[in-house]
Amino acid sequence: MPELPEVETVRRGLNKLTLGEEIRGGDVLLPRAIAHPLSVEDFLAGIQGTAIAHWYRHGKYLLAKLVEPTHTSPQTAPPAGWLGVHLRMTGQLLWLVSTPIRDSSLAVAERENINPQETLQKHTRVRLFFKNGDELRFVDQRTFGQMWWVPPTMSPSTAITGLKRLGPDPFSEQFSLEYLAGQLQNRRRAIKTSLLDQALVAGLGNIYADEVLFVAGILPTTPCTDLNLEQIGRMRAAIIQVLQAAIDAGGTTFSNFLNVQGVNGNYGGIAWVYNRAGEPCRVCSTPIQRLKLAGRSAHFCPQCQR
Ligand SMILES: [Zn+2]
Repeated sequence: MPELPEVETVRRGLNKLTLGEEIRGGDVLLPRAIAHPLSVEDFLAGIQGTAIAHWYRHGKYLLAKLVEPTHTSPQTAPPAGWLGVHLRMTGQLLWLVSTPIRDSSLAVAERENINPQETLQKHTRVRLFFKNGDELRFVDQRTFGQMWWVPPTMSPSTAITGLKRLGPDPFSEQFSLEYLAGQLQNRRRAIKTSLLDQALVAGLGNIYADEVLFVAGILPTTPCTDLNLEQIGRMRAAIIQVLQAAIDAGGTTFSNFLNVQGVNGNYGGIAWVYNRAGEPCRVCSTPIQRLKLAGRSAHFCPQCQR
């Protein structure tokens, strides 16, 4: 499953490739991939003729500000709407550069006697076509991924209901020590389980929660209410440090995630504890242990984490 660092890698890729590009239309192959508006026609009508000004990220939500293509400074232009994307379990965004063989227009395909469907991945759900001939393709095997078009008259968190319940992004100012300590003093659950709660902090998944707790030296089973301020401070710093390291490495290879140009990231080789049950701890050589916590596996070093 793509986690925050992978989504951030995708965001950076999209900001390199798609800014200023005008959407000329699209093709929705799986209507339920569109979470808002209810009708696929309204989704396509909403995005058509707009240009991408900038991609933002909150937790694992990607949000593109859309503007009228005529604006000379898209960053400051008023939004003509928003395009939201959540990759969920297996979603991938692929940016395809136009070449004659994969040109999406039927006319070209017929002329060259090519079935345009042949160039499509099996799990292609949504295709967005750009005026310059490039294509942004949403491929999603498990079909939990979603896209939204939010009209300019609406705030993104009204249409994208998950944004409403989402806690602060770990890289935002709102994710302060005061905030985290205040939240944790009311929670009796294990810290690992709370770190996965998107209302506490946005975008932390199973892999990085394990890694963060190792770096912070805290056992995943520790009740939140047992953590002192010093431990919470260490954990907050570890969240930022571990995520930043993974972003710098370009995401993980833990799942079938592909970055925006279809290239695997490379965080996998340097995991401290995740998926390393029975292997020696990289610090003290004690075998890494694994247990089930609220239905999810937790990996930890019984020596380094207390
Ligand atoms: Zn250890």
